Amino acid sequence: MTSVLYFNGPILTMDAGNSTPEAVLTEGQTIRAVGSEAELRAEMPAGTQEADLQGQTLIPAFIDPHGHFPDPGFIRLFRVDLASPPRGDCLDIPTALERLRAKAAETPTGEWVMGVLFDNTSIAEGRMPTRAELDSVSTEHPIWVIHASGHNGSANSLALQKHGVNRDTPDPLGGRFGRDPETGALTGLIEGLSAMGEMGDTDFLIDRERFWAGFNSCRDEYLAHGVTYAQNAWATREMLEHFASLPADQDPGYDLMLLPIGELEPALTDGPDPLDWPGNPHFTLGPRKLFTDGAFQLQTAFLSAPYHKPIDPENPCGMSYESEEQHRFQVKKLHDLGYQIHCHCNGDAGAQMFIDAVAAALEANPRADHRHTIIHGQALRDDQLQQMAKLGITVSFFPAHVHFWGDRHYDTFLGPERAERISPCASAERFGVRYTIHNDASVTPTRPIHLAHCAVNRLTAGGRRLGEAQRISALSALRAQTIDAAWQVFQEDTRGSIEPGKLADLAVLNRNPLEDPDSIETTKVTRTIRRGQVVWAQEQ
Ligand SMILES: [Zn+2]
Repeated sequence: MTSVLYFNGPILTMDAGNSTPEAVLTEGQTIRAVGSEAELRAEMPAGTQEADLQGQTLIPAFIDPHGHFPDPGFIRLFRVDLASPPRGDCLDIPTALERLRAKAAETPTGEWVMGVLFDNTSIAEGRMPTRAELDSVSTEHPIWVIHASGHNGSANSLALQKHGVNRDTPDPLGGRFGRDPETGALTGLIEGLSAMGEMGDTDFLIDRERFWAGFNSCRDEYLAHGVTYAQNAWATREMLEHFASLPADQDPGYDLMLLPIGELEPALTDGPDPLDWPGNPHFTLGPRKLFTDGAFQLQTAFLSAPYHKPIDPENPCGMSYESEEQHRFQVKKLHDLGYQIHCHCNGDAGAQMFIDAVAAALEANPRADHRHTIIHGQALRDDQLQQMAKLGITVSFFPAHVHFWGDRHYDTFLGPERAERISPCASAERFGVRYTIHNDASVTPTRPIHLAHCAVNRLTAGGRRLGEAQRISALSALRAQTIDAAWQVFQEDTRGSIEPGKLADLAVLNRNPLEDPDSIETTKVTRTIRRGQVVWAQEQ
């Protein structure tokens, strides 16, 4: 078994006392000891390799507390990237159509062309492309452009036809097919997960071969940013079957927490046709996932007070994705089955639906240490954080929004006052709610250092400081992506800190991010260690 001694640089353990020992000794896949260099040299086995940090900083490898691995790989390999600044360079609909046309030209007739990461709030026209525009790209390929938030999209005529939708199709609950107000003809717009159906799933059109290609591509990207543990936080049955296809004795080079869609239970694990699981030991079935609302960019996040500049006068506060009654039923069901629940709630009214449902489920069936989690919680109010502290509800915030959409939160979505406190990390700290922070890849790319910068410095892409009062320390931002992230999915016994017995998943940084937090963004991962082995290193 290979042993490695790390020494000669700051070591940030992220243990309970944030201790900073002189040295770490790993043995095989795990951490054997931490302590003074002299102590560890005395106990290290013969043949131990020496990893001189040369002043660089050692931390636990990052954990992504919420995201959609391996979607970034699918996008890179199989989709058309239509992202706008600051992430991409698509500025208007003609550019988007041009890119789709290029993809169609190299795609066999009849096969789908899919554009992703399109953001109507960031392009000149301020809207999604129409059916007619997409028909102008091709009528021989089904074309589907999905919004950056994943909560709506636009289809051409052939895609609508393949989706089985025509002008007589009724709107499902929580969804809508766009129609011309005068003629009733379909515009191509499809809003809400219920209306998008499988076209809204990120594994749409992904077969087994594409799945593993996307997996490997995503793995390599994450490892290059020091992230060794991530999530697929909306696992369809098909997606789970892809993961389950890996033989139990193979190491795919990555470890994941998978969050099955809550509605699949109890049939998924217990029903007449249960999933063949446990599969590979590197994949763990974790919390079950629910939704209460949509996204701010589409004004489908559900708020208690109107949007700053509402786009839909009939729904100025956005909307819930399901009725209160249905939501309570799902929460109670999963809670009573003993599952942890992660629930997507962006708006404060969406969050309140979940808080109330958890309160009712706990009232009927008290359960200690459930760690039910609000995902995003971007508009949480202080009174809600206080309720959450009482109920034991935790939260994973999305401070990447400060950078990517902060200026539009301020000007359009939420207005100055609410925008100043999106992803209120400091308030959560004040009220004793343990929290993590995420990128929600592929909504924004998984970049732990940049994410820490967003939470610490709260600067928008336009350079505005958004919410001085909600800034957190660099240490908090790192803990939120290491030990707290492990804790939030019940993995704190094996991951998230540098302590004896835990997995030797580590990252080496070119500087100590706790010094001069204003410039934390300049920190770089130079080496990633997974299970005791270097799996990525910056080119010298
Ligand atoms: Zn997500």
